[in-house]
Amino acid sequence: MEFDLSWLLLGLPLAFMLGWVASRIDLRQLRTENRSAPKAYFKGLNFLLNEQQDQAIDAFIEAVQNDPDTSELHFALGNLFRRRGEYDRAVRVHEHLIARGDLSQGDRERAQYALALDFLKAGLLDRAEAALLPLEGTPFEEQARLALLALYERSRDWPQAATIAHKLHAAGHGDFSARLAHYLCEQAQTRHAAGDTAAALALLEQAVATAPDAPRPRLELARLQQAQGRSAAALTSLQTLAERAPAALPLAASLLAEAAQAAGQAPQALALLHTHYVAAPALDLLQTIVTLEAAQSGNPQATQQWWIKHLDKELSLVAAAQWLAKEKFEHEEFHPQVQRALDHATKPLLRYRCAACGFEARQHFWHCPGCQSWDSYPPRRVEEL
Ligand SMILES: [Zn+2]
Repeated sequence: MEFDLSWLLLGLPLAFMLGWVASRIDLRQLRTENRSAPKAYFKGLNFLLNEQQDQAIDAFIEAVQNDPDTSELHFALGNLFRRRGEYDRAVRVHEHLIARGDLSQGDRERAQYALALDFLKAGLLDRAEAALLPLEGTPFEEQARLALLALYERSRDWPQAATIAHKLHAAGHGDFSARLAHYLCEQAQTRHAAGDTAAALALLEQAVATAPDAPRPRLELARLQQAQGRSAAALTSLQTLAERAPAALPLAASLLAEAAQAAGQAPQALALLHTHYVAAPALDLLQTIVTLEAAQSGNPQATQQWWIKHLDKELSLVAAAQWLAKEKFEHEEFHPQVQRALDHATKPLLRYRCAACGFEARQHFWHCPGCQSWDSYPPRRVEEL
């Protein structure tokens, strides 16, 4: 008993001493680690805040070398490479992360999404698609679907884009019906260009059913009906357009006049245009009214007063130039020169402008070629915005 106790009395302080030494060593090691990793990290952060991305990358590479297990630093580095446009390096970092066996499921999915973004930014659409598809059912599902949607739109793969839009719509991530109608219209255009009018018509009718208040399906359906010589059907399509999407009528006005004249219903079309012009005086409505009335009355001079009346409502250079074009002046010989100068000045005012990016064009776009937004062009001319 006594022998055992004396050993205990001797052993206890020894064990205590050993424990203390071990703890000191551990602490010292921990402190040096803590000191070296954050130092490089903060250095990198400092460079980032000073917008010195090259130096930040060097500092983060140093930090990653000191502590290769830290996934956050790899993510930061990968994103930096992508932002700098160094896509191959960003891809390497993210592929390395995915290949690591010790990575959590959440971080692996995050790295997978980051890799897809690298490919997207690099324009490698096939590889981006392959990287995005496995993200179904993960927390990155919605972002991945939106990226896939943009990707399919960019490659004009409308059926695939429609599949994704249907999924987003069903999951409650917004109303995609207008977008789905655009996809059908795009496919109809392709079919029509290939000479398959029946397929184009069927697609447009499907587009009308998908988004009954969208102007494009009805307008394009009417255009096709008019091209087929079915003026009465075209007129009906446009009358419904005027009811359901009145703001877009300026885009359809000239086609409406054409179909109405062919169908022998010019007075009805004029009445419709008048009603809408009074509610919202648009230049395109006015231009169509003037042309249609002149054709009806056989006296172009009589419709000139419309431009003057419009000037009472809007200070429009376009309306002023249109009025001047048909007037007689004292120095008639100089009129063509003056008119040319005026027409030149009004040309930019007759463009359409994307509300999202400001891109201007002579024609109206449903899908902006500048920023890829849908329905971002107001149906009014620049002068009226
Ligand atoms: Zn745009």
